[in-house]
Amino acid sequence: MIRLNKSSLPPNVTILSEYAYQQGEAFDILVDDCHSKCYICEDKPTKINVEHIVPHRNDPELKYDWANLFIACGHCNSIKGTQFNSILDPTKCDPEEHIALSIDPTEDLVGQVKIELLRTDSSTVQTAELLQKVYNGTNTTKMQKIESSNLRKEHLMPNVHRFMLFIKNYREEPDVTGIILPLNCISIKISPPSPS
Ligand SMILES: [Zn+2]
Repeated sequence: MIRLNKSSLPPNVTILSEYAYQQGEAFDILVDDCHSKCYICEDKPTKINVEHIVPHRNDPELKYDWANLFIACGHCNSIKGTQFNSILDPTKCDPEEHIALSIDPTEDLVGQVKIELLRTDSSTVQTAELLQKVYNGTNTTKMQKIESSNLRKEHLMPNVHRFMLFIKNYREEPDVTGIILPLNCISIKISPPSPS
Protein backbone atom coordinates (compact mmCIF):
# COMPACT_ATOMS: atom_id res chain seq x y z
CA MET A 1 0.00 0.00 0.00
CA ILE A 2 1.40 3.36 -1.04
CA ARG A 3 0.34 6.98 -0.70
CA LEU A 4 -2.29 8.07 -3.25
CA ASN A 5 -3.66 11.44 -4.28
CA LYS A 6 -7.32 11.53 -5.19
CA SER A 7 -8.49 14.11 -7.73
CA SER A 8 -11.47 16.31 -7.07
CA LEU A 9 -14.42 15.28 -9.21
CA PRO A 10 -15.35 17.82 -11.90
CA PRO A 11 -18.58 19.68 -11.07
CA ASN A 12 -20.45 17.84 -13.83
CA VAL A 13 -19.48 14.38 -12.52
CA THR A 14 -21.69 12.95 -9.80
CA ILE A 15 -21.91 9.57 -8.11
CA LEU A 16 -25.55 8.72 -7.64
CA SER A 17 -25.52 5.07 -8.68
CA GLU A 18 -23.27 2.01 -8.90
CA TYR A 19 -23.12 2.58 -12.65
CA ALA A 20 -21.55 6.00 -12.05
CA TYR A 21 -18.60 4.67 -10.09
CA GLN A 22 -18.27 1.35 -11.94
CA GLN A 23 -18.55 2.56 -15.53
CA GLY A 24 -18.97 6.33 -15.61
CA GLU A 25 -16.44 9.13 -15.82
CA ALA A 26 -15.81 8.84 -12.09
CA PHE A 27 -14.54 5.30 -12.68
CA ASP A 28 -11.97 6.54 -15.22
CA ILE A 29 -10.72 9.16 -12.75
CA LEU A 30 -10.60 6.59 -9.97
CA VAL A 31 -8.52 4.16 -12.05
CA ASP A 32 -6.11 6.96 -13.01
CA ASP A 33 -5.79 8.16 -9.42
CA CYS A 34 -5.00 4.61 -8.29
CA HIS A 35 -2.52 4.12 -11.19
CA SER A 36 -4.63 1.15 -12.36
CA LYS A 37 -3.38 -0.75 -9.32
CA CYS A 38 -5.06 -2.43 -6.40
CA TYR A 39 -4.65 0.04 -3.54
CA ILE A 40 -4.02 -2.79 -1.06
CA CYS A 41 -1.52 -5.15 -2.75
CA GLU A 42 -0.35 -2.84 -5.61
CA ASP A 43 -0.87 -5.51 -8.26
CA LYS A 44 -2.50 -4.51 -11.53
CA PRO A 45 -5.67 -6.58 -11.61
CA THR A 46 -7.09 -8.04 -14.80
CA LYS A 47 -10.53 -7.63 -13.24
CA ILE A 48 -10.99 -4.37 -11.38
CA ASN A 49 -13.23 -4.13 -8.34
CA VAL A 50 -14.38 -0.77 -7.00
CA GLU A 51 -13.73 -1.07 -3.28
CA HIS A 52 -15.16 0.94 -0.40
CA ILE A 53 -12.38 1.51 2.12
CA VAL A 54 -15.02 1.84 4.84
CA PRO A 55 -17.59 -0.92 4.21
CA HIS A 56 -20.81 0.76 3.13
CA ARG A 57 -23.27 -1.90 4.30
CA ASN A 58 -25.85 -0.28 1.97
CA ASP A 59 -25.40 3.08 3.66
CA PRO A 60 -25.73 5.50 0.70
CA GLU A 61 -23.60 8.09 2.48
CA LEU A 62 -20.65 5.69 2.30
CA LYS A 63 -21.63 3.86 -0.87
CA TYR A 64 -21.65 6.97 -3.06
CA ASP A 65 -18.90 8.89 -1.26
CA TRP A 66 -16.06 9.67 -3.68
CA ALA A 67 -13.52 9.75 -0.84
CA ASN A 68 -14.53 6.21 0.13
CA LEU A 69 -13.85 4.66 -3.29
CA PHE A 70 -10.69 2.87 -4.42
CA ILE A 71 -9.89 0.09 -6.86
CA ALA A 72 -8.83 -3.35 -5.72
CA CYS A 73 -8.15 -6.80 -7.11
CA GLY A 74 -10.58 -9.62 -6.44
CA HIS A 75 -8.17 -11.30 -4.03
CA CYS A 76 -7.87 -8.26 -1.74
CA ASN A 77 -11.53 -7.36 -2.08
CA SER A 78 -12.66 -10.83 -1.02
CA ILE A 79 -10.28 -10.90 1.95
CA LYS A 80 -11.11 -7.41 3.17
CA GLY A 81 -14.87 -7.87 2.82
CA THR A 82 -16.62 -6.08 5.66
CA GLN A 83 -14.22 -7.27 8.36
CA PHE A 84 -11.75 -4.42 8.10
CA ASN A 85 -13.52 -1.15 8.73
CA SER A 86 -10.72 1.12 9.86
CA ILE A 87 -7.62 0.50 7.75
CA LEU A 88 -5.16 3.23 6.83
CA ASP A 89 -6.48 5.61 4.19
CA PRO A 90 -3.61 6.09 1.69
CA THR A 91 -4.99 9.50 0.69
CA LYS A 92 -4.71 10.75 4.28
CA CYS A 93 -1.36 9.28 5.33
CA ASP A 94 1.71 7.62 3.89
CA PRO A 95 1.25 3.92 4.67
CA GLU A 96 5.00 3.40 4.27
CA GLU A 97 5.49 5.47 7.42
CA HIS A 98 3.24 3.05 9.29
CA ILE A 99 4.15 -0.37 7.92
CA ALA A 100 7.36 -1.72 6.39
CA LEU A 101 7.17 -4.65 3.97
CA SER A 102 10.14 -6.77 3.03
CA ILE A 103 10.80 -10.06 1.29
CA ASP A 104 13.97 -12.08 1.06
CA PRO A 105 14.89 -12.07 -2.65
CA THR A 106 17.14 -15.08 -2.20
CA GLU A 107 14.25 -17.32 -1.24
CA ASP A 108 12.92 -19.52 -3.99
CA LEU A 109 9.85 -17.49 -4.91
CA VAL A 110 7.84 -18.83 -1.99
CA GLY A 111 9.12 -16.67 0.86
CA GLN A 112 6.64 -14.95 3.09
CA VAL A 113 6.40 -11.19 3.16
CA LYS A 114 7.69 -9.74 6.41
CA ILE A 115 5.29 -7.12 7.72
CA GLU A 116 6.73 -4.79 10.34
CA LEU A 117 4.73 -2.29 12.36
CA LEU A 118 6.31 1.16 12.53
CA ARG A 119 3.41 2.52 14.56
CA THR A 120 0.94 0.90 16.91
CA ASP A 121 -2.33 2.77 16.38
CA SER A 122 -5.38 0.61 15.70
CA SER A 123 -5.62 1.49 11.98
CA THR A 124 -2.00 0.52 11.43
CA VAL A 125 -2.47 -2.76 13.29
CA GLN A 126 -5.65 -3.54 11.34
CA THR A 127 -3.95 -2.75 8.02
CA ALA A 128 -1.02 -5.00 8.92
CA GLU A 129 -3.47 -7.83 9.71
CA LEU A 130 -5.10 -7.32 6.31
CA LEU A 131 -1.74 -7.32 4.51
CA GLN A 132 -0.74 -10.47 6.39
CA LYS A 133 -3.77 -12.22 4.92
CA VAL A 134 -3.32 -10.68 1.47
CA TYR A 135 0.38 -11.44 1.01
CA ASN A 136 0.87 -14.51 3.18
CA GLY A 137 -2.59 -16.08 3.23
CA THR A 138 -2.62 -16.24 7.02
CA ASN A 139 -5.95 -17.54 8.35
CA THR A 140 -7.57 -17.52 4.92
CA THR A 141 -9.22 -20.13 2.73
CA LYS A 142 -7.27 -22.66 0.65
CA MET A 143 -8.12 -20.72 -2.50
CA GLN A 144 -6.95 -17.42 -0.97
CA LYS A 145 -3.69 -19.03 0.16
CA ILE A 146 -3.02 -20.06 -3.44
CA GLU A 147 -3.85 -16.53 -4.61
CA SER A 148 -1.44 -15.11 -2.00
CA SER A 149 1.29 -17.47 -3.18
CA ASN A 150 0.66 -16.44 -6.79
CA LEU A 151 0.76 -12.77 -5.77
CA ARG A 152 4.22 -13.25 -4.25
CA LYS A 153 5.52 -15.32 -7.17
CA GLU A 154 4.05 -13.39 -10.06
CA HIS A 155 3.99 -9.81 -8.77
CA LEU A 156 6.27 -9.23 -5.80
CA MET A 157 9.32 -11.33 -6.62
CA PRO A 158 9.60 -10.29 -10.29
CA ASN A 159 9.43 -6.65 -9.20
CA VAL A 160 12.06 -7.20 -6.51
CA HIS A 161 14.33 -8.89 -9.05
CA ARG A 162 13.79 -6.11 -11.60
CA PHE A 163 14.63 -3.54 -8.94
CA MET A 164 17.77 -5.42 -7.94
CA LEU A 165 18.81 -5.50 -11.61
CA PHE A 166 18.18 -1.75 -11.83
CA ILE A 167 20.40 -1.12 -8.80
CA LYS A 168 23.11 -3.40 -10.23
CA ASN A 169 23.05 -1.59 -13.57
CA TYR A 170 22.98 1.81 -11.89
CA ARG A 171 26.03 0.97 -9.82
CA GLU A 172 27.92 -0.24 -12.87
CA GLU A 173 26.88 2.59 -15.19
CA PRO A 174 25.24 5.41 -13.21
CA ASP A 175 25.37 7.83 -16.15
CA VAL A 176 23.53 5.62 -18.62
CA THR A 177 20.11 7.16 -19.15
CA GLY A 178 18.66 4.15 -20.93
CA ILE A 179 18.13 2.25 -17.69
CA ILE A 180 14.58 2.86 -16.65
CA LEU A 181 12.95 1.60 -13.49
CA PRO A 182 9.83 -0.35 -14.45
CA LEU A 183 6.71 1.71 -13.83
CA ASN A 184 5.02 -1.11 -12.04
CA CYS A 185 7.90 -1.62 -9.67
CA ILE A 186 7.11 -1.63 -6.00
CA SER A 187 7.50 1.78 -4.43
CA ILE A 188 11.00 1.91 -2.99
CA LYS A 189 12.74 5.04 -1.80
CA ILE A 190 16.18 5.53 -3.36
CA SER A 191 18.75 7.71 -1.66
CA PRO A 192 21.28 9.45 -3.91
CA PRO A 193 24.77 8.00 -3.67
CA SER A 194 26.80 9.66 -0.94
CA PRO A 195 29.76 11.75 -2.15
CA SER A 196 33.03 9.88 -1.97
ZN1 LIG B 1 -4.92 -6.59 -4.34
